[in-house]
Amino acid sequence: MIACPCEVCHSADPRDKRLRTSALVRVEGSGSGSGSGSGSGVRAEGSGMNIVIDAGPDFRTQMLAANVMQLDAILLTHEHKDHTGGLDDVRAYNYFYHKPVDVYATERVQAAVRRDYAYAFDSEHPYPGAPEITLHTIDKRPFSVGRQGEKGDPAVEVIPIQGLHNKLPVTGFRIGKLAYLTDFNHIEESEIEKLRGVEVLVVNALGHNPHPTHFNLEQAIEVARKVRANRTYLTHISHRMGFYAEQEPRLPEGIHFAYDGLTIEI
Ligand SMILES: [Zn+2]
Ligand SMILES: [Zn+2]
Ligand SMILES: [Zn+2]
Repeated sequence: MIACPCEVCHSADPRDKRLRTSALVRVEGSGSGSGSGSGSGVRAEGSGMNIVIDAGPDFRTQMLAANVMQLDAILLTHEHKDHTGGLDDVRAYNYFYHKPVDVYATERVQAAVRRDYAYAFDSEHPYPGAPEITLHTIDKRPFSVGRQGEKGDPAVEVIPIQGLHNKLPVTGFRIGKLAYLTDFNHIEESEIEKLRGVEVLVVNALGHNPHPTHFNLEQAIEVARKVRANRTYLTHISHRMGFYAEQEPRLPEGIHFAYDGLTIEI
C-alpha cells in the first residue's frame, strides 16, 4: 500500500508483494504439444487461448512480467478501477495483431468502460492510437469466448457466477475446472451449486477483520468449504492479512494464499 509504514508493506519476501488482482487463464488447444513455456513466455503461435480476468492499473506490468504475447479475451468482474484501470494498454495487442481486443462484461460494467475510456469509443472522431476494444455483453448465462473455427480451436465456455460486492453486483467466472471469484462479500447457495466439481477455486479474502465490501479470511474459508475444490487460493489480499510466511501455515488444508506470479496447472 502506498505510503504505508507497516512491516508487511516493506517485506523483502516477494510473496508479500501484491499488484492489483488479476489472472491469466491459459487454455491449451488440442493441437498444442508444449506447455505454456514458463521461461519463454506465453507464446503467440499454435492453438490454445489466453484469457485475462480483469485489467487493473498493473495490467501492463503484469503482461510484461508474464510475457503474454497473445491475448484472446479480457473478462471483467466489475467496474472498479483496480480491475479496469489498465485497459488503455491493450493498444500493444492492437498494434501487433491489427485487431481490437475482445472484452466481456455486463451492460453496467460496459457503461463504466465507455465513460472511463470515452476517447476509445468516439467513432465520429477516432483518435489515432487509442485502444481498440470490442465489447461483448454477458449476463447470467454461460457464454463462449474465442476464435471459433480458427486453427480448429474449440471456443472456451465460461459460466458467470453472480455475487455481491456490498450492494454492487459482481461477476465471477467458471472456466472448466477453475472458478475465479474476486471482490465478493456475498454469494447465494444457487451460485455455489454452479461451482460443483471445480478442482481449483480462487476466492477473495481481504484480511482477518470483517469488511463491508469483501469476504474476510473466515468468510472465504467458509465459501471454500462449501465449494469443496481440491485446492483453494485466496486473492485480493491486503497488507493487513500479515506476512505470507507467518499466515500460510495457519490455513486449513487445501487452502493457500495466492501471490504475484503464482502458476497453477489444472
Ligand atoms: Zn502496510
Ligand atoms: Zn471492487
Ligand atoms: Zn478490487
